[in-house]
Amino acid sequence: MNSLGHRIAKLIETQGPLSIAQFMTIALHDPAAGYYATKDPLGVRGDFVTAPEISQMFGELIGAWCAEVWQQQERPKTIRLVELGPGRGTLMADALRVIRAVPQFLEALDIVLVEASPHLRAMQHERLKDFSVRWSDRYEPADGPLLLIANEFFDALPIRQFVRTERGWCERMVVAGNDGLGFALSPSPTLIPGTGQAPIGGVIEVAPAAAALAQDIGRTIARWGGGALIIDYGYEEPGFGETLQAVGRHRFKDVLANPGAVDVSAHVDFAALAAAASANAKTFGPIGQSIFLERLGIGERRKMLAEKNPDHAFELDMAVERLTDFTGMGTLFKALAIMPPNTPKPPGF
Ligand code: SAH
Repeated sequence: MNSLGHRIAKLIETQGPLSIAQFMTIALHDPAAGYYATKDPLGVRGDFVTAPEISQMFGELIGAWCAEVWQQQERPKTIRLVELGPGRGTLMADALRVIRAVPQFLEALDIVLVEASPHLRAMQHERLKDFSVRWSDRYEPADGPLLLIANEFFDALPIRQFVRTERGWCERMVVAGNDGLGFALSPSPTLIPGTGQAPIGGVIEVAPAAAALAQDIGRTIARWGGGALIIDYGYEEPGFGETLQAVGRHRFKDVLANPGAVDVSAHVDFAALAAAASANAKTFGPIGQSIFLERLGIGERRKMLAEKNPDHAFELDMAVERLTDFTGMGTLFKALAIMPPNTPKPPGF
């Protein structure tokens, strides 16, 4: 086990078992050794590849989505554009290239990048130096119209797991023993309403931070206008399976063995996000990334780019294939929109 693992074990010895949510927060964000705090996880040489890193078309289509929503809503004079977890800043750079063609929209924007990692923030700074953007450590509720984009952000938010036992739902905790960190069930059950007929051994995952965030975004958009686009891997129908996972170097890894060295995430429960947001706002989707990108015109965009750069035609085809593949990203990844009540369907839905 690595040094962050030993530190977590010591914490457990003095304070007791950690929830998976507490473990995830330390493993991802410990200032000295947390996964996101210390490195750039993205790209072929990193641990995973995200849609904006596959092709510029992804960010460009999202930029066009934002411009269209702004137009649908009678072009507010000022509107905040927030991206949660911008990674290397690639999506935003590609989106702004398209947005630049609508100068009035670009002028109306107050661009905020919500990024916890100082390391990635520096990369975003470099990538976006031609634009006026600012940074924030956390999402802050807006007091005006809000456009919000989050690609592969919600999967990084901490989850808790509860396992169905004879005694009821018992929380799965992280404990420390002689062989390092392990999982154990909390002895006393937690009362969880509305969970239906779960088999013994069935698992439910809840993401309180994700739900609270979706609710707040919904409240802001319902009150002030705008729209949010959440894209991630996740599921629409909650079941009783677990999705907590660790990934390093493009392979699945042990979640507990080397905290901070691998990415830890969980599939997004889109039904829970939609339910939280629709307390105030209207939601559309989730729909598969494949259908979403096709409706936004990824085919036409590919054609246009290939005509300009015939040498890249094959590369562009591969990128479209990868982003829209029905057996891969095209269906595992989904898009959810959060919109004000009484607005027309946003593009792509
Ligand atoms: N959206 C990018 C990066 C995805 S990786 C892309 O698609 O390529 C997840 C991103 O979210 C990283 O930038 C990470 O540092 C950031 N992040 C994760 N948890 C966060 C949190 N709680 N607060 C702020 N940023 C967070």
